[in-house]
Formats: sequence, structure tokens, C-alpha cells
Amino acid sequence: MALPTVLMPGPMNRSVPAGLAGRFEVIRLWEADDPDAVLAERAKDIVAVANAGTPIDGAFLGRLPALQLVASFGVGYDQIDAKAAADRGVVVTNTPGVLDDEVADTALGLLLMTVRQLPQAERYLRAGHWQERSYPLTPATLHGRTMGIIGLGRIGEAIAHRAEAFGVSVAYHNRHPKDVAYRYYPTLLELARAVDILTVVVPGGDETRHLVNAEVLTALGPDGILINVARGSVVDEAALVDALRNKTILGAGLDVFEHEPEVHPGLLEVDNAVLLPHVGSASVPTRDAMGGLVVANLVSWFDHGVPVTPVPESADLVRRGDG
Ligand code: NDP
Repeated sequence: MALPTVLMPGPMNRSVPAGLAGRFEVIRLWEADDPDAVLAERAKDIVAVANAGTPIDGAFLGRLPALQLVASFGVGYDQIDAKAAADRGVVVTNTPGVLDDEVADTALGLLLMTVRQLPQAERYLRAGHWQERSYPLTPATLHGRTMGIIGLGRIGEAIAHRAEAFGVSVAYHNRHPKDVAYRYYPTLLELARAVDILTVVVPGGDETRHLVNAEVLTALGPDGILINVARGSVVDEAALVDALRNKTILGAGLDVFEHEPEVHPGLLEVDNAVLLPHVGSASVPTRDAMGGLVVANLVSWFDHGVPVTPVPESADLVRRGDG
């Protein structure tokens, strides 16, 4: 019997091709001389897409009439039009849960780096300035602070537990309150006024675009620290550059940017921002676990007709069993 055909638009973590080998035929589109010709020729065979970051919109889905499943690598899937997929009966899956601890560790690392200027201090040592004089005292400390989490979901809760272990108290803003001990703020502005660390970990996409704007940054205040491990689109980057330049807030630690891998030149100029190249989940064990979940979704769908981790937009399809 012919193996189900999976389209891979771009390269993926090694665990994905390794896990698919022998069970699926994989079309490695980025290696094709003429990707459009390959797509046109093989469209009727392609029943699944294994995807890591390639934008997938309604037009792309429209080219694949036999498509049943898009298995996306990563928990954020804002690059995929999951509603358009559901309208066409195509299920979308992501990789939640297996990266929570890694991303939460990164968020806390970024917070400590930002508050205590650790990257700046290390650069100071490497430049040989220590022999001349000690590194200046940092204006801020982590102690006595309150962290407001925008998006207290799986990763947000893992961040909250870590923050508590550091003695930092936690509050949050979601669209809906949760059954947790942390104080809930129904608006982001109220949360920003109440805390002096704002940690962003909501999904990206149109609904959260520029949620953190100039008004929110002003509310955070001159001792405020912004940490973003969510998506660059959630923060108005131009407003953030102004806030950092004018010291409307004290500092920012960013793992994600509006136009990755391009970084706003204003962010590169200011010395009160710590910038990481989107490494939140980027360890070998965690990326392998994410790849394993991509494979598990494909195998479960084609062996048993059920995905392991469908996104909420696919819930109705999965319930009806007609994906
Ligand atoms: P979850 O779905 O578990 O949590 C998301 C939380 O955000 C929910 O509590 C939800 O609560 C809240 N939320 C959603 N929309 C809004 C909104 N418009 N306003 C306020 N709150 C909102 O997701 P995860 O914790 O698993 O992941 C969160 C995000 O982290 C991902 O979508 C991804 O973009 C990002 N991420 C970044 C990584 C990196 O490398 N830097 C790695 C992994 C993830 P409610 O529904 O009540 O609003």
C-alpha cells in the first residue's frame, strides 16, 4: 500500500524526518528546483503538511485538495490560518506542553539578565574595564517586585511558579479569570499600573497585535521591566523604543521581535534592553520533544483518525470526526 504523502515546506528538527521515515512519503519542498511545479504535480496526493514556521493561508490550503492535517511545530501557530483550515475540513495540530519549562526558564533568565544588567556586566569584563574600576551598581533589584503576566496559560503558570520561588509576587490578565491564587486584573492597563514587571506570554495574531502599546508602557512606569517571550507582534516596538530611550520604563528583555530575524535598529542602540534571538524553547531535548509530538499527531491521525493535540479552531472537526 502507498504511504501517505506529507509535504514539508521547509527544513524541520531532525526528529521529524527521522520519525516519519518508513511510515510516510515526505516531499522536501525547499530542496525542489521548482517548488510550484512540484506542488502542482503532487497536490492530489498530499494528505498532510508538516510545518515549522512557513506561512499557511487560505490560498495555500486551496492548492491542496486532498489535505487532511497540518501538523505544526511549536505551540504558537499564528503563521497558520487555522480558521480557513477548519472551513476546509483540515485539522491543525501544534505542540503544547512539552516546551513549558524551557520557555519559562528562558523568561526567568531574561528577567534576571535585564534587572541586574548581566550581559552588560559580562561585556564590561571582556572589554577589560574591570581592571580600571568595578562595574557600576545596577539601579534595580528583583527583590520586592510584583510580576504581571499577560497570558497565564501553560507557559504563564510555569513562569509564575518560578517567579514565586524568587520571592516575586504574581498577578495576571487573561480574557477570563482562572481558578488560581494569583490576583486577576480584567484589563491590561490595570495590571500594568499594579506591577513593575510585565511578562508577555499570550498567543500572537490579530487579536493581540500591539496589546502592549505606549499607554501600557507608561502605566508600567519608570521602574518597570518588560519581558516578552510571546510574539513580537504583541508589543508596539516603535513605542517600546521610545519608552526605553525616554526612560518611561527601566528596561526590557526580549526573545521575540516584530519582524524577525530583523531587529528594530532603535533596540540595538539602547543599553537598557537585553535581546535574545528567539531561543525560548531552543534546546536539543525540548526541540526533539516538540518534533516527537509533530510525528505523534501525524501517526495518530493516519492510524486512528484522531489528532493528539489539535488547536482550538479544529475542535469541532475533531468532535464530529469528519476532519
Ligand atoms: P496557552 O494557550 O496555554 O495560554 C495562553 C494564555 O493567553 C491563556 O491563558 C489565554 O487565556 C491568554 N490569552 C489569549 N488571548 C488573550 C488576549 N487576547 N488577551 C489576554 N489574554 C489572552 O498558551 P501557551 O502558554 O502554551 O503559549 C503561549 C504563547 O507563547 C504561544 O502562543 C507562543 O506564541 C508563545 N511561545 C513562545 C516561545 C518562544 O520561543 N519565545 C516558545 C513557545 C511559545 P484566555 O483564553 O482566558 O484569554
